[in-house]
Amino acid sequence: MKCRFCSTELVHIFVDLGSSPASNSFLSKDQLNKAETYYPLRLFVCEKCFLVQIDEYKKSDEIFNSDYAYFSSFSKTWLDHARKYVEMITERLRLTSKSKVIEIASNDGYLLQYFIEKQIPCLGIEPSSNTADTARKKGIETIVEFFTEDFAENYIQDAKKADLIIGNNVLAHVPDINDFVTALKLLLDDNGSITLEFPHLMRLIEHSQFDTIYHEHFSYLSLHTVRSIFKKSGLRIYNVEELITHGGSLRIYACHEKSHQKNLESVNQLLDNEAQQGLIDLSAYQHFQAKANRIKNDFLLFLLEKKRLGKTIVGYGAAAKGNTLLNYAGVKPDLLEYVCDAAPSKQGKFLPGSHLPVVNERKIKESQPDFVVIFPWNIKDEIMNQLDYIKEWEGRFVVSVPVLEIFD
Ligand SMILES: [Zn+2]
Repeated sequence: MKCRFCSTELVHIFVDLGSSPASNSFLSKDQLNKAETYYPLRLFVCEKCFLVQIDEYKKSDEIFNSDYAYFSSFSKTWLDHARKYVEMITERLRLTSKSKVIEIASNDGYLLQYFIEKQIPCLGIEPSSNTADTARKKGIETIVEFFTEDFAENYIQDAKKADLIIGNNVLAHVPDINDFVTALKLLLDDNGSITLEFPHLMRLIEHSQFDTIYHEHFSYLSLHTVRSIFKKSGLRIYNVEELITHGGSLRIYACHEKSHQKNLESVNQLLDNEAQQGLIDLSAYQHFQAKANRIKNDFLLFLLEKKRLGKTIVGYGAAAKGNTLLNYAGVKPDLLEYVCDAAPSKQGKFLPGSHLPVVNERKIKESQPDFVVIFPWNIKDEIMNQLDYIKEWEGRFVVSVPVLEIFD
């Protein structure tokens, strides 16, 4: 196994979470009796470029199949984030009706809809056809395709290049990161900007967020490593912002090497910070397994203790995070009865590996559980607000990352 960016032989394990099915492979009832494919969930860190990456190459068309059911627009917090971004970037880059915006992995149009409101021309590129259909219904031009160098080369034959390219939570999901970044460069106008958001590896380590590790997520990124990858493709990172989304993300701003954009001090400051945290030697990467094990054991202990007392425990949020935790801990429906999710496309299905049923939120009101475990801890405030009524029967919320916490 060689590093996906710099081809150095990988020998240092960052964390090993055993084996599990792909976390978005929800099962229908008749699939429960069939065998499931399990893949190792083990990460390495490259000793040369410090790219943290998944062990096995798994073909992405297998993961993002037509059943892939993630609709961004189901989270209000995320929609607010998108709307504020559009306001900010339109002003900063002075985008007008003559500009062109392209979003990679545009999902159901959760973000581009705000450019449409401003009459700024935009295009979505999205590999999943069911979310792309939803975007088109909102009037957003969307191409159903994986974003690769081949695609970009073809596309620019007869199309205008972009003044702004956006990619939120996609850089970590691409198997061939060099190809992806080269494709960005091909599509970018001479003085255009790219903004990408991705979870920051420094925060993942600091807050023990091992449940953000799953098969669809090939890379775990620091600014240091992303800067090297961009540089190799002739792109320059001129600004960076730290965001609170997904437990701590980065938003990088990049341009062509020769663009008029000036480098801002934020880039050097964050690079220094990463160096101080041990991210450019192996020291930061050595104790992560112990952190993951502690969280997994505390979670299991909680379930077993409460179960022994005759309590009922359910989950909220059929997200990838929950699947990583549930499958690493080996939880089945005898310990946690069901998981609610707002997305109708997931309801009536079963979680991969654990086989917990995914149900409508109504079920919480009917069954009045003692504990509701919130799996997407990054939006826990939103969910606790929404499910505030569980207090009527003295139900309590539980979050397990970064430490097990029971809320009164
Ligand atoms: Zn490397």
